[in-house]
Amino acid sequence: MEEEKCPKCGAPLAEISETATGRKLQRCSKGSWNKETRQNEGCDYVKWLVVEPQTLEEKCPKCGAPLVLAVTRFGKKMKKCSTNVWNAETKKAEGCDYIEWINGTTEPLDEDCPKCGKKLVLFTTAAGKKMKKCSTSGWDKEKRVATGCTYVQWLKASDYAPKDESGGEEFLPPDPEPGSESTSEP
Ligand SMILES: [Zn+2]
Ligand SMILES: [Zn+2]
Ligand SMILES: [Zn+2]
Repeated sequence: MEEEKCPKCGAPLAEISETATGRKLQRCSKGSWNKETRQNEGCDYVKWLVVEPQTLEEKCPKCGAPLVLAVTRFGKKMKKCSTNVWNAETKKAEGCDYIEWINGTTEPLDEDCPKCGKKLVLFTTAAGKKMKKCSTSGWDKEKRVATGCTYVQWLKASDYAPKDESGGEEFLPPDPEPGSESTSEP
C-alpha cells in the first residue's frame, strides 16, 4: 500500500487516531502537541476521516430495513434507517425517516468508587461528554429520586483522550470548514 504524504510538508502521515467523540483523524507525523505550551508544534496538517455508518443487527421499527449507526459532526450518535438517503437533486431526504438518538452509553471500568468501594462505570452522554459514576447509582422512576451511591466525576476532554506516545490527542483541531483551507496558504 502506498503511504500517504502530508500535502503541506510531504512527510508521511501518522497513524489514524480517534477523538474523544469517536471521530477519526490522521495528522502529519511532523506535528506534535506540546503539553507545556499547550500548542501544536511542527506541521499542523490534519485530515479528518469520514466515519462510515455502521450497519446494525437491529431492524427499523417503521419499515423493517436494517438500521445504521451514524455519528454527527459533534459526536452525537444516532440510529437511523438505512433506506434514508439524501437526494442532492431535490435537496430532500428520501426514504424512511426513522431516527433514534442514542442517549448515552455506559462501559464498566476497572476502578473503585472512592465513596463506597464498588466499581465505577464510564458514562458517555449523547453529546459525547464523559463522566465516571458509581455502578450502584440508579434512578427510581416511581419515587423520582436517585438511588444508590451518588459519586460522579465529570471528565475533561484531556482526561479521556486516548493516550499514546505522541501525546497529541489533547489537541483537537477545529472541523475543516469548506474553503477555510486556502486561507492558511500563502
Ligand atoms: Zn506535514
Ligand atoms: Zn425504516
Ligand atoms: Zn459508589
